[in-house]
Amino acid sequence: MPLLVMKFGGTSVADLARIKNAAEKVRREVERGYDVIVIVSAMSGKTNELVGWVEQTSPLFDAREYDAVVASGENVTAGLMALTLQEMDVPARSWQGWQVPINTTSAHSAARFVSIPRDNIGAKFAEGMKVAVVAGFQGISAEGRITTLGRGGSDTTAVAFAAAFGAERCDIYTDVDGVYTTDPRITSKARKLDRIAYEEMLELASLGAKVLQTRSVELAMRFKVRLRVLSSFEDTDENSGTLVCDEDEIMESKVVSGVAYSRDEAKMTLLSVEDRPGIAAAIFGPLADAGVNVDMIVQNISEKTEGGKSIAVTDMTFSCPVNQVLRARKAMEDARAADIIRYADLIEDTEVAKVSVVGIGMRSHAGVAAAMFKALAAENVNIKVIATSEIKISVLIDRKYMELAVQALHHTFGLDQAA
Ligand code: ADP
Ligand code: ASP
Ligand code: MG
Repeated sequence: MPLLVMKFGGTSVADLARIKNAAEKVRREVERGYDVIVIVSAMSGKTNELVGWVEQTSPLFDAREYDAVVASGENVTAGLMALTLQEMDVPARSWQGWQVPINTTSAHSAARFVSIPRDNIGAKFAEGMKVAVVAGFQGISAEGRITTLGRGGSDTTAVAFAAAFGAERCDIYTDVDGVYTTDPRITSKARKLDRIAYEEMLELASLGAKVLQTRSVELAMRFKVRLRVLSSFEDTDENSGTLVCDEDEIMESKVVSGVAYSRDEAKMTLLSVEDRPGIAAAIFGPLADAGVNVDMIVQNISEKTEGGKSIAVTDMTFSCPVNQVLRARKAMEDARAADIIRYADLIEDTEVAKVSVVGIGMRSHAGVAAAMFKALAAENVNIKVIATSEIKISVLIDRKYMELAVQALHHTFGLDQAA
């Protein structure tokens, strides 16, 4: 039997009526002759609520218990989806991660797949079951503890199942009808893309476009999974949505294909750290150990005199998600107390956002950075940190200018929808 993976995100299973609507889409594919693996997220808002409960109970929580709590949202929707399908006379049953089992590493709250054996689900398909409903976002570690894959992780569950079971396609049903040139919530001028290259999608996702989890795109690229994003609220067919595919399947290509943003960033600066070999390791080692995801890094060279003697000191700036500031500060204070690092002061700016432009065309076009900085200058937006790679340029700016910056860049790089 040909097999499809269909993933429904939080808003697509937000209540019983929406679960029913999603189940109808599944039934249609079964009627077309497919066996289907359905991956479900928790009902919209549920995971946030669970995370909130954990943080209120224990600010520097034990990640294993965090996972035990936040994985539960998907269990509810998996069971409800299976029941809904059964009510429609579609033979279906649910699986939680550990039942498959979805084997992962023990990196709690950021676990990665180790293996997904096909035996259990395969045996049920062989017996005539048509739909396996699997709880997204979760797995089980070698130690037998429940793990989760990081926010948005059900996308990655879906792609992993598509790869493991050799699915014809992996369809990600969500509340937008595809991947856009930027988040359509930020500008109504955003344009839907029919196709986007894996590499560009990977950059957009990792720079904040949460329509797909970064790891899901990585896996799709590695295992050549045909990945599609489409609306769960509209009628859809084989041509709907956006296909994420190889670069050479795409005809038209602009220098910049998309603008991404990440709202909740923080910038931290260590003032007057010694400028000596090993200082970066002494700072970023403890941050990594504390689980802080450091993103951009800038080191300034400066001189300081102490007792008439000139000594080399520098300021080290880095950015990280704003909800990791507490952890980052503690890691730095502990390292200072243990005399691993010395610094004059630690300055935090928790009101910043990151805005990025992405495009494969940048490889062969000069001047994108200059055009970007000019567009931001014209809007009087001050740039605090810059980072570049082969196909992207990112800037850290004041959060209050984020929307303005996205809109200006979208316009500057010719992405606005024709009026
Ligand atoms: P789900 O709950 O289905 O997983 P998400 O909320 O995780 O859905 O992702 C869908 C959202 O991603 C959209 O509602 C949209 O606001 C946002 N988004 C951000 N960037 C983009 C983009 N470039 N194209 C489409 N959607 C985007
Ligand atoms: N429910 C999880 C989250 O909100 C996983 C997902 O929806 O993909 O992050
Ligand atoms: Mg999502």
